Amino acid sequence: MDETPQRVLVVTPHPDDAEVWCGGTVARWARLGAAVHYVLCTDGGRGTDRPGVTSQELAATRQQEQLEAARLLGVKDVAMLRHPDGELEDNAVFRKELVRQVRLVRPGVVLCPEPYRRNLAWHRDHRITGQVTLDAVFPYARDHLHFAELWRDEKLEPHKTAAILFWGAELPDTFIDIGGVMDQKLKALRCHRSQMAHRPPTELDALVRDRAKEAAVTAGNGCQYAEAFRKVTFRT
Ligand SMILES: [Zn+2]
Repeated sequence: MDETPQRVLVVTPHPDDAEVWCGGTVARWARLGAAVHYVLCTDGGRGTDRPGVTSQELAATRQQEQLEAARLLGVKDVAMLRHPDGELEDNAVFRKELVRQVRLVRPGVVLCPEPYRRNLAWHRDHRITGQVTLDAVFPYARDHLHFAELWRDEKLEPHKTAAILFWGAELPDTFIDIGGVMDQKLKALRCHRSQMAHRPPTELDALVRDRAKEAAVTAGNGCQYAEAFRKVTFRT
């Protein structure tokens, strides 16, 4: 995928998922002039194996880390839905929140987790975020009679998104060259100190570079580093 979308919406279940899976794409597109917006679905308050830390303390730390990382990548803003970590549901409340964000941002491309992995385990919040985002984009954000009150009361007009890029897909078909922004991605990842404490930074860097190299090999277009996605398109 070569063209840079004008507006991008990234729907991330937890703080750090976006940086891990699409931080390079975000940095690249922001640098090329795209307006990139994040929606952070949960508060991230349960992502630790450290005893003694409360969920509230962890959530506050992780939300700060997310803001720092997003700033570093050139993201315009981060909307926080603050659902409890691990408790996302495929229901009308969550779907409406995402429809609201789609209609506010009016993206050309939405980035979110792959909901339908077959053989690789995946966090429940990731599956649900992917599935509800897909539904929110099409048809709920597109058709004015879904959540009609969003148009009537909040003046949020229906919006047609051109494509979703699912990260974490088992069979990716779309690759973004992140060779020029790898350092920026690594820096953004290091903002998530609460998640990286047990791992030396050099080890983390090597892991990220290895994964991006693998994606570049699969892409087969000669780039050094890439991020990989499964693309779903909608007629606009
Ligand atoms: Zn996650």
